[in-house]
Amino acid sequence: MRTREECSEHDEGDPLAMLRHEFILPEGQIYLDGNSLGPVTTSAQRRVRQVVDHEWGDGLVRSWNTAGWMDAPLTIGNRLAPLIGAGDGEVLVADTLTFLLAKIIGGALEIRRTRHVIITDEVNFHSDLYIVAGMAKMAGRDIVVKTIDRNRLSEHLDDDVALVMLTHVDFRTGEMLDMSGITAAVHAVGALMLWDFAHSTGAVPLDVTSADVDFAAGCGYKYLNGGPGAPAFVYVAPRWQGVLRNPLPGWLGHARPFAFESTYESATGMRAYLTSSPSVIALGALDGALDVFERTTMTMIREKSLALTDLFIDLVEQALPDVFEVVTPREHDRRGSQVALRHDQGYGVVQALAERGVVGDFRAPDICRFGFAPLYLRYVDVYDAVQILVDVMMSYAHLDERHAVRRAVT
Ligand SMILES: *Cc1c(COP(=O)(O)O)cnc(C)c1O
Repeated sequence: MRTREECSEHDEGDPLAMLRHEFILPEGQIYLDGNSLGPVTTSAQRRVRQVVDHEWGDGLVRSWNTAGWMDAPLTIGNRLAPLIGAGDGEVLVADTLTFLLAKIIGGALEIRRTRHVIITDEVNFHSDLYIVAGMAKMAGRDIVVKTIDRNRLSEHLDDDVALVMLTHVDFRTGEMLDMSGITAAVHAVGALMLWDFAHSTGAVPLDVTSADVDFAAGCGYKYLNGGPGAPAFVYVAPRWQGVLRNPLPGWLGHARPFAFESTYESATGMRAYLTSSPSVIALGALDGALDVFERTTMTMIREKSLALTDLFIDLVEQALPDVFEVVTPREHDRRGSQVALRHDQGYGVVQALAERGVVGDFRAPDICRFGFAPLYLRYVDVYDAVQILVDVMMSYAHLDERHAVRRAVT
């Protein structure tokens, strides 16, 4: 694929092409930021309206029973489970990602109560680093958080390690880690493994069961398109359910929330990891957003994702040799669904692109990040985006002084 015509032919033969119509996409935009906030689908829109107008509007408080609100964190978890290779009763949708990480970290430290070390990646997402440090402080005993170079993980694994927490697809570079291999190495020293799937879920095929993962958690608002601030999800392997305690207990995780008992007794199964009332409207949006995933497979999504990212990398290298450093690995088994281009004026590049309708994002200090969501992106979109990038670089639009001032969200 080198010409726009060839890209267009690929779109005609694309088995996912029809799914683009499920999304509400603003005219004249090429949206390469679905890894940060996925777009709205008509199903999500419909489901939210149904929740607001009928379940809440007509049903009022009765809907807690009649509309399945109390079970929504579990039923939506069951819908999401196949995307990560989990089964029924193994995934819960609740809170947001950082809170779910906190629950797992706190619980895991109790399970491995004689061990003192948590290992994480020095370039992990900052929220992951903050929460792991915060939970270590609250453990009630001395816990050392080692933030390491993940390529040297094996040097740090020993029998004092309680938990290893890694993000499966690096949020900056798009590098994907070897989930099975790392999980096995962590288990070999008796430690527990927590995977952050923020940039993996809905983007790459995942199989927590075959990889023997202990715990995983991810966002609802990135590739899953669940809406801004959407609830997150957590996976707890069946062997740890009933063993892993929720360190943030609340009434919704109680065995009998409406008995109003003054002492806590954990619910069984994944319900144990609930704390407070489910955010019903937000759950509706995520529920609706999952419809589109049931019309395809992660294998098909992955095939197109690799084709899109290959195309983007090839076109950029061909048109702009030596302008950008392609930070994302070329090997398919080490790549998520995004491409990161390094450039000293990366912020200006991303701003100038946005002015021309190509929406990516910038991750400090120097990464232009482009997410490729196969459900709604076309090959011609990739082609056009690169032409616009060429135009920006050739006209030095990225150096315009308007782009010198950074906004709050980059
Ligand atoms: C997006 C992202 C988060 C966001 O967490 P929230 O608590 O849902 O805001 C956390 N970790 C990683 C790795 C992310 O990419």
